[in-house]
Amino acid sequence: MIYQYWNHKMETLDRADLEAYQLTQLKKTVKYALETPFYQSRLKAEGIRHEDDIKTLADLRRIPFTTKHDLRGGFPYGFLSIPKEAIVRLHASSGTTGTPTTIYFSQEDIIRWTSFVARSIYAAGCTKSDVFQNMITYGLFTGGLGFHYGGEAVGMMVIPSGAGNTTRQFKLMQDFGTTVVHATPSFLLHVESKMREEGISRETLRLKRAFAGAEPYSEDTRKRIEKLLAIDVYNSYGLSEMNGPGVAFECQCKNGLHLWEDGFIPEIIDPDTLEAIPDGETGELVLTCLCREATPILRYRTRDLTSFYTEPCACGRTHRRLRRITGRTDDMLIINGVNLFPSQIEEVIMSIKEVGNNYLIVVEKEGAMDRLTIKTEVNQDIFMDDTRPLNALKERIRKTLQGMITINPKVELHEHGSLPVSEGKAQRVQDMRPKDV
Ligand code: AMP
Ligand code: ZN
Repeated sequence: MIYQYWNHKMETLDRADLEAYQLTQLKKTVKYALETPFYQSRLKAEGIRHEDDIKTLADLRRIPFTTKHDLRGGFPYGFLSIPKEAIVRLHASSGTTGTPTTIYFSQEDIIRWTSFVARSIYAAGCTKSDVFQNMITYGLFTGGLGFHYGGEAVGMMVIPSGAGNTTRQFKLMQDFGTTVVHATPSFLLHVESKMREEGISRETLRLKRAFAGAEPYSEDTRKRIEKLLAIDVYNSYGLSEMNGPGVAFECQCKNGLHLWEDGFIPEIIDPDTLEAIPDGETGELVLTCLCREATPILRYRTRDLTSFYTEPCACGRTHRRLRRITGRTDDMLIINGVNLFPSQIEEVIMSIKEVGNNYLIVVEKEGAMDRLTIKTEVNQDIFMDDTRPLNALKERIRKTLQGMITINPKVELHEHGSLPVSEGKAQRVQDMRPKDV
């Protein structure tokens, strides 16, 4: 395969040069951070009064972690390091958990962000001949505008369709020959179901690729989307605290997400002890933004769980690759004392071919005990009137799940298209247990 690079020099820098570049950028970021009310006191307490107090990359460890709680506490301008007149845009976290936090961008910040998104799109093999339909929420959420400008920078024709309204999405795809789309994986699964429902033939579409991100999904979900839609799906990771999309992205090897280390310094820590953990082991991703002046954020605890691949990638890029994010430390459900991530359930059910494209995890109290119910749609070829095979399928799903997660769930099968679909990030978990228990 021939790999294309948006910025060959930066994407293939050797480690020593990459680290030297990181140090320069870190010092610049600390300089900006020292202008913010929040970091002024934080950094000074650690003896960092000037950017020159950062002498090596190891000095990063002297800086305390920043949490979502800190960001909320600094609302609205506690993290702003430039005069308000120099801000050209504001974005906010979609509030995966709790109230949103705001990030400000200068013109230069937007230019740098756009180049990281363009680099990501290009790494997936897109070119200016592509027609790109951005089927994700526009607005305060960074996924819409982030990909929009990244796509334009690559030179693709961008269709800002936004999320939802599948019938209109198909019409746009057919009318303009869309070759690449961006959506959440759950919306892509929904699109596929709707395509069959509306009798849209695959031959009428020119679709080749999709970028899927903003929420965790399993390798089986990727394979399912790729097979059903006959496209290549690339995993896209980002978060508004680090601009948005364009933090880590899969190249054409589709084996881990290159984290753009000239824009972000990654660390992986044990979320309990907060100590660094050995390369290759799973822990919480901590990121320091190196490419932003208006809202510098240092050592941000993302809550996202992942690990690094330690071997180099065949594409020649030197930036390390993250494994698919399996969930967030605050996603974890404790069911009768057993720790369980929603992704473990998805991994099991998406590998069963009779299972449809949508599911829901419900946790309730039954007396003193927790009760786990998995509601899943069945695929279109299955008749809901035929109870015998349905019961057998239900039992097979239950047994497979029990084998994998050691909890005995109740399984409910639902007709295709009957479970709720969300236009933004999917809401897969309904935890109905009283909060104070
Ligand atoms: P937001 O700041 O609202 O864009 O949300 C960012 C969060 O979405 C991240 O911290 C992750 O928890 C999640 N997320 C984004 N992209 C992915 C992805 N490709 N895989 C798993 N989770 C993701
Ligand atoms: Zn690669």
